[in-house]
Amino acid sequence: MIYADMAATTPLDPVALRAMLPYLENDFYNPSAVYPDAVYVKRALHRSRAKVAQAIGAAPNEIYFTSGGTEADNWVLKDRIYSAPYHIITTRIEHKAILNACRVLEAFGWRVTYLPVDHTGLVDPAVLEAAIEPGHTKLVSIMLANNEVGTIQPIKELAEIAHKNGAAFHTDAVQAVGHIPVDVEELGVDFLSLSGHKFGGPKGTGALYVRKSAPMHPLIDGGGQEWGLRSGTENVPGIVGMGAAIEHAVSFITEDAKEVSAKRDMLVKQILSEVPGVALTGAEHNRLPGHASFIVDGVDSETLVMDLGNKGIYVSAGSACTSSNGKPSYVLKAMGYTDRQAWCSLRITIGTETRLAEVKEIAAAVTSSIRTLRGEGVR
Ligand code: PLP
Repeated sequence: MIYADMAATTPLDPVALRAMLPYLENDFYNPSAVYPDAVYVKRALHRSRAKVAQAIGAAPNEIYFTSGGTEADNWVLKDRIYSAPYHIITTRIEHKAILNACRVLEAFGWRVTYLPVDHTGLVDPAVLEAAIEPGHTKLVSIMLANNEVGTIQPIKELAEIAHKNGAAFHTDAVQAVGHIPVDVEELGVDFLSLSGHKFGGPKGTGALYVRKSAPMHPLIDGGGQEWGLRSGTENVPGIVGMGAAIEHAVSFITEDAKEVSAKRDMLVKQILSEVPGVALTGAEHNRLPGHASFIVDGVDSETLVMDLGNKGIYVSAGSACTSSNGKPSYVLKAMGYTDRQAWCSLRITIGTETRLAEVKEIAAAVTSSIRTLRGEGVR
């Protein structure tokens, strides 16, 4: 089996597993207790918070642990409900965690503008500038990198526009953290969501970065953990695993990104040169390193993904979360593709652990599956 669906989830980094094991066995204590072994566990939480903070250029007291990216996204958006309804700006290609939280805000009287994107999935800063309403727009939420097509947004520029007009800026960086360098100061964002299982950490872990000056209301009331903002006994093994994974992922991030991009380029080149009627979706250069996504003329996504799965090549049609809802990709539609084209998507996402020989095998399998499904037979 070759796993090439890293944007859906990544395998647990052995470094993370090793770090977690003691906290699943002997070091099981409640970090809020006061005896020495519990204090030791609490220190492990501090260390993980520091690792997550360092990985994104934040301070440890700006990191709030959550159950993942979905929770972090929901928290930052729904926190607006505490104030009178104003205006929020997001994009048409956000993850459902953002889009569905916006629907809730709309039910609370907020107006939401969903910005369009160009054919590569890019938000034009001029379009944000035109949509923003000084004094009324309270929050702009734009993802750092898209999960379906890998396009990376000009977040620094977009955040500057938000701030200039008095709005706070959130970025969903779930697909980016651990894969490309991410620095909250450089980007100039007030809030940032990340998710452990996208960079070798365990599932059900994540964090919300909240700039010190940005006020937030508690997400969960209770015993006062996470500075009173997200109560509940901490997921110690998970948090420790996420800390170890993020530290490992960012230690050689620039070199790794270069190496993975080179393999991705090879994969794209091989597929595009071998089969006609296949086009790359998303930005050609400004995209996540391991991310390749295509429209395959005349071949239904699900059939192709299943055929490849039967060959032991695990890829996806696009978003892992929407592939079973029976609708064409709203991301591709927002990028100007027709319904018919949006049914024919293929996403291959590789990582540092994907070997060159595997890349070649994936390309060969994709080529042969497309030919077979088009009834062309294999050369
Ligand atoms: N945001 C983006 C861009 C994602 O790709 C995902 C997961 O696929 C999420 C949010 C949700 O993250 P989680 O699975 O940690 O809830």
